Amino acid sequence: TISSALPTQSASATELAGLDRRFLVHPHQRMDRNDRVVIVRGEGATVWDAAGNELVDATGGGNWLSQVGHGRRELAEAAAEQISTLEYYTGFFDYSNDKAIELAYRLNQLSPEGIDRVFLTSGGSDSVESAIKSARLYHNRRGEPNRTWILARHFGYHGASYGSGTATGFEMMQTYVGPNLPNVEKLSPVWPYHHEMYGGGDVTDALIAELEGAIERIGAGNIAAMIGEPVMAGGGVHEPPADYWPRVREVLSRNGILLIADEVVTGFGRTGSWFDSATRGMKPDMITIAKGLTSGYIPMGGLLMSDAIAEVVTSNEGFFHGYTYAGHPVAAAVALANLDIIEKEGLIGRSLTVGDWFKSSLAPARDLPQVGDVRVIGATVGIELVVSKQTKEPMMIPIVAEGVADAVRREHNVIVRPYGNVIVMSPPLVIGEDQVRRTAEATIEVLSRLGADGQVA
Ligand code: PMP
Repeated sequence: TISSALPTQSASATELAGLDRRFLVHPHQRMDRNDRVVIVRGEGATVWDAAGNELVDATGGGNWLSQVGHGRRELAEAAAEQISTLEYYTGFFDYSNDKAIELAYRLNQLSPEGIDRVFLTSGGSDSVESAIKSARLYHNRRGEPNRTWILARHFGYHGASYGSGTATGFEMMQTYVGPNLPNVEKLSPVWPYHHEMYGGGDVTDALIAELEGAIERIGAGNIAAMIGEPVMAGGGVHEPPADYWPRVREVLSRNGILLIADEVVTGFGRTGSWFDSATRGMKPDMITIAKGLTSGYIPMGGLLMSDAIAEVVTSNEGFFHGYTYAGHPVAAAVALANLDIIEKEGLIGRSLTVGDWFKSSLAPARDLPQVGDVRVIGATVGIELVVSKQTKEPMMIPIVAEGVADAVRREHNVIVRPYGNVIVMSPPLVIGEDQVRRTAEATIEVLSRLGADGQVA
């Protein structure tokens, strides 16, 4: 049924939520979470819902993005200007467009040493998919067609398409929809807070032994690449030990295996640098980006790669992979304007300042009985809820983090995001100190009422 006059213009918040339930299928929709808050406007780190509530957005659009904050006219103007000049032209066949070229050059300048070229996409999953295909293609073209296996990690998040969704370490995304991508091996996540789970010795030693064991079992000559987030985001905001990535890199290089840094979350200042991989000795061969590239103003992602890989994947018959919207001029224009703002306003450095505000204002949370750990990495926070500080058993039942986030929003008009047993904050980098303190105080207030039974009193 199609109506030319849908009732959304004048609908109340309740009516909108009803229409939403009736007509919209949501990403990662769960049937027990259907009581939706309809967001209608944003400015900086503030958003308004359809009922007129003003909320602090401590999540960056709910999805770790919005680097420059909501409601930036500069980005609206960049899009409008580009749409009226050239809304689209393909990058296939013999064609290109000036904005995509300019963005490729800009990303070349910003990216870590050794990463020189970019393949543009429409989002994170597309970028990871492109990375997996490129890794296989690279080895195949170089005479090693057996190198098809991808190493990934439990609780890593890489996307929802078949390749990226199989590399993702959340089993519910692979259930019911199989067969999934074959030849994907999952390693342990890097969770230093839970160091006991690695056998009691050095965390990196244990993880390197596991990696070497997997390579031995599968055979180095069968493995194309390993993919990992420099800092695991959706898997709970965990910073790896300083020697983890350098040692992983060494093992992979010794075995001819490529390393893909998934910087969809960590890129563009989220953790305090343009590219988090550059600060951790990761030296990846490829980097996937999205989210902060455009601050979410328009969908765009990319796969950055070394010249060596680009030469091989585009050689011989060429690179038979690509999307209609690859290098979309409007998305590229918005990305360029977004990068301008990040640079001009010093938002990479500000990310660290935001982190300092979170560290000081969240300090009292550490003393609460159900808070196991408070992790702050740039403007990214993970508060891990546990049954007891001694056992560190994750507080999962009932789904406590969701209940806490609901209460923080309903009672304090602050949006934080639950991931399993971790409360996550990843606000726009322009968030004010007062908003950070409000977010911390609201969260601490609710957590102080959280009992060992998982109920918020
Ligand atoms: N990689 C990481 C690290 C992510 O967090 C996400 C999405 N949250 C993706 C990839 C997938 O990106 P998208 O949802 O844009 O496809």
